[in-house]
Amino acid sequence: MKIKELLARDQITFSCEIFPPKKELEFSGIHKIVDQIHDLGADFISVTYGAGGSTSKKTLEVASYIQDTHHTPALAHLTCCGATKEDIARRVQEMKARGIENVLALRGDLPQDYVPGPYTYAIELIRDIKAQGDFCVGAACYPEGHVECAHKEQDIGFLKEKVEAGCDFLTTQMFFDNNVYYNFLYRVLAAGIQVPVIPGIMPVINAKQIKRSCELSGTVLPPRFKAIADKFAEDPQAMEQAGIAYATEQIIDLIANGVKYIHLYTMNRPQTAAKIVANLSHILR
Ligand code: FAD
Repeated sequence: MKIKELLARDQITFSCEIFPPKKELEFSGIHKIVDQIHDLGADFISVTYGAGGSTSKKTLEVASYIQDTHHTPALAHLTCCGATKEDIARRVQEMKARGIENVLALRGDLPQDYVPGPYTYAIELIRDIKAQGDFCVGAACYPEGHVECAHKEQDIGFLKEKVEAGCDFLTTQMFFDNNVYYNFLYRVLAAGIQVPVIPGIMPVINAKQIKRSCELSGTVLPPRFKAIADKFAEDPQAMEQAGIAYATEQIIDLIANGVKYIHLYTMNRPQTAAKIVANLSHILR
């Protein structure tokens, strides 16, 4: 099933992101994680793609497992920086062969030794995927602006071009202040972008790790969140409880304000995701 059909329903679409394991030895464990995430009632499960090949081969294997075992749509991420046209064509053919019809088309983070190739931006990948089959294509967006783009309005302009190239929906970078997302929705609508914008929610379990990744991605930590992270950073159990409560509150506020889609960055922690879903049992359904 295409994700754009799920998003068009008059009900909440709940989805989860997982990543393939980095080591071959850990691969069997991912099936268990998928099974547990599926049991939470995810409408689709997205699988990240390790740019540069680290886990790239595994993305489609995990996506196939999701679809073949659980009959749940998988969203396979695909990045293009550093890839040749042939690499992408091969990957797209493999998706077709496996019956994967949903792709999140991304540029990927540029490595330090990046050598420009045939793909400079995600838009070129979106065009190539659309030209090669009847795929439902999603793309990334950044409520606080992409870290490389100096002007938010310019970023929205490029986003509009991505959507016009055939993108069916957008998924946001994590954010910890819902007002940032609401403000972004206004700007997106004002720019004439009309596809669904799925908010990506990250439950914070490791305060130090999240501070680092926020620095890298340009995500602002609101004072309320900073206070929690500072207080509980050294106490993993307290931090997990606080992180679950914070993510739960964010989701309740989004749904109360009419948002119909929730994407959870699970970080391959189904137990954490399960606690959030349990808090929302009457709200998500
Ligand atoms: P683009 O849309 O190409 O944008 C990149 C930058 O270029 C932006 O600053 C944009 O403003 C600018 N730009 C765009 N078009 C133009 C243009 N025509 N001219 C000039 N500038 C332009 N990374 C992974 O490696 N694997 C994953 O699985 C993965 N999953 C992700 C999922 C989500 C939901 C998100 C939000 C991010 C994900 N990422 C992943 C990270 C992503 O690859 C990086 O954020 C990357 O730096 C940008 O990718 P993009 O597709 O948004 O790039």
